[in-house]
Amino acid sequence: MTIENITVVGAGVMGRGIAYVSAHAGIRTTLVDISEEQLRSALNELSRLAEKAVTLNKLSESAANELFSKLHTSLDLVNAVSDTDLVIEAVPEKRALKKHVLETVDQHAPSDIVIASNTSTISPTELGSYTKRPEKVAAMHFFNPVHRMKLVEIVKGLETSRETVQIIREVAERMNKETVEVNEFPGFVTSRISAMVGNEAFYMLQEGVASAEDIDKAIKLGLNYPMGPLELGDLVGLDTRLNNLKYLHETLGEKFRPAPLLEQYVKAGRLGRKTGRGVYDYSTDGEVVKK
Ligand code: NAD
Repeated sequence: MTIENITVVGAGVMGRGIAYVSAHAGIRTTLVDISEEQLRSALNELSRLAEKAVTLNKLSESAANELFSKLHTSLDLVNAVSDTDLVIEAVPEKRALKKHVLETVDQHAPSDIVIASNTSTISPTELGSYTKRPEKVAAMHFFNPVHRMKLVEIVKGLETSRETVQIIREVAERMNKETVEVNEFPGFVTSRISAMVGNEAFYMLQEGVASAEDIDKAIKLGLNYPMGPLELGDLVGLDTRLNNLKYLHETLGEKFRPAPLLEQYVKAGRLGRKTGRGVYDYSTDGEVVKK
């Protein structure tokens, strides 16, 4: 089956990035959200991204126009999935919400298409059980920022078929991504390590081991990470990081107990870049201005 149409559900940090690489791959893409504001903000951000790519000669003017001719938005999930070849779900990492969205998608999307989830941690077997087609469900885990990060982690549930893995792999390759295939386990490979490192950095900040800047600098220059764990947390979204940790704590135990300081930041609405303040403060163009 050739994938000509993709529906991405959720136009947040990840969904908009996935829609961009999908349209860039020449696939007709519909980005769905419950919030008109989110869809508007997604289109604005993606226009800025494309403009920058054109300025840097990474994208031609005509390729940018072609990309936006392939990209559509919708507030109507039922209609958007009724005639599509692949659904990629990217709503917040909350099981009840994913269940609701996947049940709706399963009910209204053609019965022979694959439903992929961009979940960072949740068991694809569990996600598959929310549908009547568990063999056609898997995690298709992209990384942030989607247009720059090369990897897609494909995570199989108990019932996921070879054909489903193959379809996801081919689509990822058309989006110019490398893939790894992972067997189901909470947090897969990447999120488990990333959540552990990010949480430990928050404990250190809470304990006064060093300033946020120095924790990030130490990890970058001493351990050769491209980004510090605290600035990465701000990029990911501290609410998303906390949701991941809560799930890993529940499934893998004590070593993933979320740092109280992280919980406090989320309660205070300091979610990172997307709200303008997390561990660091950001000016309107996303540059760090002060701690
Ligand atoms: P986000 O909070 O930035 O965006 C989620 C979007 O989903 C919002 O725009 C929201 O309005 C929308 N939404 C909520 N309910 C909806 C519904 N019923 N129907 C349609 N849209 C709905 O979240 P995010 O950071 O993009 O994360 C999405 C998923 O991707 C999560 O599962 C997360 O774990 C995973 N993920 C996140 C990152 C990251 O760096 N943020 C990286 C990899 C994977």
